[in-house]
Amino acid sequence: MAEAKEQRYDPAAIEPKWQRQWAAEPALYAAEPVDCGKPKYYVLEMLPYPSGQLHMGHVRNYSIGDALARHMWMRGYNVLHPMGWDAFGLPAENAALKNNTPPREWTLTNIAAMKRQMERLGLGYDWATEVTTCLPEYYRWNQWFFLRMYEKGLVYRKKSKVNWCPECATVLANEQVVDGCCWRHETTKVDQRDLVQWFFRITAYAQELLDGLDKLDGWPEKVRTMQRNWIGRSEGTDVEFFLDNDGCEGFVTDGHGKHERRGVRIRVFTTRVDTIFGATSVQLAPQHALVAQFTAANPELKAQVDELLDQQKEAREAGDLGAIEKHGVPTGRFAINPYNGQRVPIWVANYILADYGTGAIMSVPAHDERDFEFATKYNLPITQVIQPTGTTDAPELPFVLEDGFLVNSGEYNGLSCADAQKKLQEIAAAKGFGEATVTFRLKDWGVSRQRYWGTPIPMIYCEKDGLVQVPDEQLPVVLPAQVDITQQGGSPLGRVLEFVNTKCPKCGGQARRETDTMDTFVDSSWYFYRYTDAKNANKPFDLKTAQYWFPIDQYIGGVEHAILHLIYSRFWTKVMRDLGLIVNDEPARRLFTQGMVIKDGAKMSKSKGNVVSPDEMVARYGADSTRMYALFAAPPDRDLDWQEDGVAGVSRFLARVWRLATRYAPLARAGRGHKAAAPTGVSLKLLRKLHQTIAKITLDFEGRWHFNTCVAAIMELVNDLQSADAQLAAGEVPAPVVHELLRSLALLLAPFAPYLAAELWEELGEEDAILRAPWPQSDPELAKEDELEIPVQINGKLVTVVRVAADATPKAIENAALGDEKVRSRTAGKNVAKVIVVPGKLVNLVVR
Ligand SMILES: [Zn+2]
Ligand SMILES: [Zn+2]
Repeated sequence: MAEAKEQRYDPAAIEPKWQRQWAAEPALYAAEPVDCGKPKYYVLEMLPYPSGQLHMGHVRNYSIGDALARHMWMRGYNVLHPMGWDAFGLPAENAALKNNTPPREWTLTNIAAMKRQMERLGLGYDWATEVTTCLPEYYRWNQWFFLRMYEKGLVYRKKSKVNWCPECATVLANEQVVDGCCWRHETTKVDQRDLVQWFFRITAYAQELLDGLDKLDGWPEKVRTMQRNWIGRSEGTDVEFFLDNDGCEGFVTDGHGKHERRGVRIRVFTTRVDTIFGATSVQLAPQHALVAQFTAANPELKAQVDELLDQQKEAREAGDLGAIEKHGVPTGRFAINPYNGQRVPIWVANYILADYGTGAIMSVPAHDERDFEFATKYNLPITQVIQPTGTTDAPELPFVLEDGFLVNSGEYNGLSCADAQKKLQEIAAAKGFGEATVTFRLKDWGVSRQRYWGTPIPMIYCEKDGLVQVPDEQLPVVLPAQVDITQQGGSPLGRVLEFVNTKCPKCGGQARRETDTMDTFVDSSWYFYRYTDAKNANKPFDLKTAQYWFPIDQYIGGVEHAILHLIYSRFWTKVMRDLGLIVNDEPARRLFTQGMVIKDGAKMSKSKGNVVSPDEMVARYGADSTRMYALFAAPPDRDLDWQEDGVAGVSRFLARVWRLATRYAPLARAGRGHKAAAPTGVSLKLLRKLHQTIAKITLDFEGRWHFNTCVAAIMELVNDLQSADAQLAAGEVPAPVVHELLRSLALLLAPFAPYLAAELWEELGEEDAILRAPWPQSDPELAKEDELEIPVQINGKLVTVVRVAADATPKAIENAALGDEKVRSRTAGKNVAKVIVVPGKLVNLVVR
């Protein structure tokens, strides 16, 4: 009938038309005021670094978030769906060096380019809340937070190791160290230097960060496990061995001052104090204060310790500390076990880390893998002190389980490991040589960067007053624009005299500004709060507004951010709560980590030449096809292998939708506002499929997120519509039914292919935005199948399938199975011993 109306699907015409319309109507994607009366939904995708080009991983991440945002809008929620730019960082400095473009200009140009790409993809962001972290209106609040944290004792300075290139005479970021050498001086070995740096005391929140994970049941278990391991809580005991000073005269000095001989104690941390009678040596980190004492009078030992230090440094640089080949040297000195007075040798070992526990351990080779390996290598004694429960046989060593009792442990023999731990802790406390302790692997967060393109740290050094805070009214400390970025000779800000030289806020005298800038993870730790009140010039954000929007209902991003970003932002949230700025304990209720986009089985990378550009895909197939393919090609949490054929396939599917919809749009419009009689025949069949599809997709949006199967379900629905083409064309389906079918199809497509959906919506005579139309409701009566296919098994083997009424009784199903031709021929002359009916699912006959 309406053949003449049929048109070719042309995304290059449809998409820019809607893009212009949406750009002219920013209120469409804007969050409504907090008193709008609607339930709120905050959906957030991690903000990108403005490299200048979106990659396919971005497209996938944003397609997921945008589908969810659109769905929630259609469900009647007040949706906040913002976007911004993690705009500070090293690449801008590298680009400045390479292209002689100032970092700010380079960054802002890139942001503009990526924003164009996002708009072309039809992503529905509220651009009125855009946040750009490199602008002073944002980073002034980083400085403000820094000062508040400093006042609370959550910011401090200490000496810490940095990578140093002697050639550049500057600090290198970890990513600028390539195989232990400078990225610009390939043959120059990078040194580790001590530098005084700024730290955030995140460890003050270690226990709370750990406990909070139990409540984050909307987060992937793998992310919670990674955070638990990163925080690394271990319960144990600090025990002080005494330094045996026999043969040494006078006094010894440790980190805490001068002590009389035998007064020096070596504090070790152990999780297994029950094994302490099996300690056959004490081992110190090469940096331990006592080691310096020992080597001072022993040049030979010093040379050996220096070697251990080098080995540790190399392993640290290679990021391979866990796998370091274990070496050690005996110091010739002894320690005394406080429980039994036993004298054990003191060693220095390269695998003991100064910054874990106390930098010293007791070595119990019989009951620890690492100690066993070391003792075997250096021929140290191995003493069994734990006997496994339920056997008198000697265990194979090392025996590391706690399922046992003490032997060779004097008066403690026979105690279970757990009881012994308690008992020995009590004794240590009573006698003053130790206590029960908890240690964390989590370290304080070093935020100093000796770089230009970051937030200036708002501190001033005065000769008279020492360290002075920049007063709030002098914020922001603006990053100077004219900086010569050479990446040589120290911190770039240190060479900008107008920046460095300042007046002391206290005495008004000459003073110097701090020239370090902050780690860019500071920027991303709280940016999502700023989205709720992005223009506020007096506060980082308004408490009432943040209270309305937080926590984030759904956060979406890559699993590579499971540790740093997501721990730092949880920490920041707790700090802001304790500052009285917010009331929530955690930033995000639910977290989703999407899989990677790969090509031919490998990560996309320039060097492999397998990068697929989103622009190219959009130019060839349109934004809808590109986005829909990103959702269709794999479950969102799995890796997606990008196949251009697949995009072409999705594009052909959308073309079919387009032809079908435009062909029957006039009929559908004629049926608009009319009620159909109770559907029968092909109408009923199509409506049933429609309502099943609505039910499935609605359920998926509620948490399963199998968007790939959602798209597949829409494809099935469209196939059924196409198969009914003859009946549709012959007018066998009443106009109101055609209207419901096509209208609902447009609504179902809207989260996945928003441009085509908007166009169909208009074709169907709708005037309001599809985004404000209610999401279709599945009618369970219509969705119900009237017949079911039930598999029939004989002795567990599938024989046939019978059709029964959906509400058939078990007896009726049994009769249908027994009456089936194939079943009858196979059971003829045999004894049907038992019939098992699982209603709606299965019949199994036990035949002998
Ligand atoms: Zn260098
Ligand atoms: Zn002063």
